[in-house]
Amino acid sequence: MNKPIHFAIIGYGGMGSYHVSTIMPQAEQRIQVVGTYDISGERQAFAKQNGLRNYESYEAVLTDPTIEAVLIATPNDCHKELAIQAMKAGKHVVCEKPVAMNTQELDEILQVAKETQQIFMVHQNRRWDPDFLIIRELYKKQTIGELFQIESRVQGANGIPGDWRHVKKHGGGMLLDWGVHLLDQLLWLVDSPIKSVDIDFSYILGDEVDDGFISYLIFENGVRALVEVGTTNYTKLPRWYVKGTNGTAKIEDWDLSGEMVSASQKQNVAAPAPIQAGVGLTKTMAPPSEEATIRLPFPEPKTEYPSFYQNFYEVVREGAEPVVKNDEVRKVMQLIDGMMRK
Ligand code: NAD
Repeated sequence: MNKPIHFAIIGYGGMGSYHVSTIMPQAEQRIQVVGTYDISGERQAFAKQNGLRNYESYEAVLTDPTIEAVLIATPNDCHKELAIQAMKAGKHVVCEKPVAMNTQELDEILQVAKETQQIFMVHQNRRWDPDFLIIRELYKKQTIGELFQIESRVQGANGIPGDWRHVKKHGGGMLLDWGVHLLDQLLWLVDSPIKSVDIDFSYILGDEVDDGFISYLIFENGVRALVEVGTTNYTKLPRWYVKGTNGTAKIEDWDLSGEMVSASQKQNVAAPAPIQAGVGLTKTMAPPSEEATIRLPFPEPKTEYPSFYQNFYEVVREGAEPVVKNDEVRKVMQLIDGMMRK
């Protein structure tokens, strides 16, 4: 194996430190973290405690010839400048999502990536989430027929976390936070142009940025998707609810609890018996008879690469194709730009 890629972490906050403790070790021997640069003295001290070298300035990182790549895990409004400076100094870049504040910023980054020939890759890690990969298998293999309705939700009751996420100029708000993940998953899943988009932002908490949203997308291939992020939901709806032409699947949570039911292929099944519903009677909404449906296990989640950083390593060292491609990231950014204008 070639030598590991030596990284510096720019922004050793919640996510920067999680990369070091949890995500990067998944590609052990390929990625080596040398040190950190954070504008917070407290975070620098914490990094030092964890055995990482402290760089005094960003300049010091960029002029260190032993550093081959940087991870940018700062608030969203700093991504562009930091990425451009790094590539101009001859470093590869892994950038946290959202890649930038808007498509215009991303285009400036991509132009520099092109000029410098450095690798620039965005950490769209939720392409590796097992719940999403199950839905992706269902979509590709048509296990419950063609999926035509996809509902993807994350709902919490803790409001907008932290400090900068409440502030517009730092790229706060939930569309630029969880929204990026859910839209990235959706566009990676449904390979069809978008026909129409609607979005309703929530400002329940009184911040200048959205604390959630409900959006509805229609793709040219007919797929309908509802994407929702909520931070004021004291009880929540399933993470995924998808309908196929032959069945329905529901994944409750990241623990992969849920169920998948399809129509059985049996002929001449008994018609459902009418049930009392509220104060009325219904046959339409009665459960199907036992022999009319079949319960199926979820498929195994499958990934092309075991981890983001293994892929990054092979992109840098062996010219492999990135799992997260910049033109895909750009499509999500364009979609978000459009949603922001609504
Ligand atoms: P955070 O506030 O916990 O950490 C940000 C850190 O960056 C802080 O320690 C801060 O001092 C430092 N910082 C700010 N400006 C800097 C600069 N110019 N140079 C160096 N350091 C600077 O925030 P976070 O939750 O870690 O989020 C950081 C980034 O990671 C955001 O872009 C966020 O969207 C992303 N994120 C991604 C995921 C994911 O699952 N992919 C999860 C959480 C956060």
